[in-house]
Amino acid sequence: MTDPFVLITAGALGLILGSFLNVCIVRLPEEESVLTPRSKCPRCGRMVVWYDNIPVLSWLVLRAQCRGCGTRISVQYPAVELAVSAMFVAAVWRYGLSVTALSAAIFGFTLLGIAVTDARHFLIPDEYTWGGLGLGLVLSLAGGLSGFTMALVGAGTGFGLLYLVAWAGEKAFKQEAMGGGDIKMMAMVGSFVGWTGVLLTLFGGALLGVLIFIPLTLGKEKRLVPFGVFLAGAAAITFVYGPAIIDWYIRTLVAA
Ligand SMILES: [Zn+2]
Repeated sequence: MTDPFVLITAGALGLILGSFLNVCIVRLPEEESVLTPRSKCPRCGRMVVWYDNIPVLSWLVLRAQCRGCGTRISVQYPAVELAVSAMFVAAVWRYGLSVTALSAAIFGFTLLGIAVTDARHFLIPDEYTWGGLGLGLVLSLAGGLSGFTMALVGAGTGFGLLYLVAWAGEKAFKQEAMGGGDIKMMAMVGSFVGWTGVLLTLFGGALLGVLIFIPLTLGKEKRLVPFGVFLAGAAAITFVYGPAIIDWYIRTLVAA
């Protein structure tokens, strides 16, 4: 049982970092700094003062409107803050105060940033992929040389497999079938979940894509597929349940 104080701290930290992720989501696709300047209203230019910048609460108090001009503030802001907070709480709830919990929190944070950005802009900034890959490799060192090797092989598998898929897709459809962002993303994912996790993520991502995206776009004109959204969902599931799923799969194979 995790100490309630730890859970509350994780939740509060999640709200603050969720607020930072909102800044990343807005600014990284524009290649702007996420550190300066302070946020301001896109319409009237009013600086967001600290008491209007408190995660979730300010959005509620302001009733989703800019204090200066009344322009609507997207529900995406509190939603991202709550989601990061919930992930952080879930991470320490499930894994206790451990490196695994830290990995889970960082992985979830990165995947959420990727999913929202890919859904909005159909691109995945390098800060999430290369940055996440670097963090994944560093965190894997907690598992010693074997942990690091697993992460490195995972990253190589993710990158290599997606590169092959992208190459084959381009040959088959005579156009770019998969963005470079997806390739780098799977290298990052591999550093957290290993090569078996990469396979599971690709399988799950394709499945989610077919189940969700195709019904949504049926009958519409050909549209870009934000594949990163589905990969992110599958990667999160793989991080938590992947070992159990792979165990079950191997036992079923052995039993057959
Ligand atoms: Zn305004």
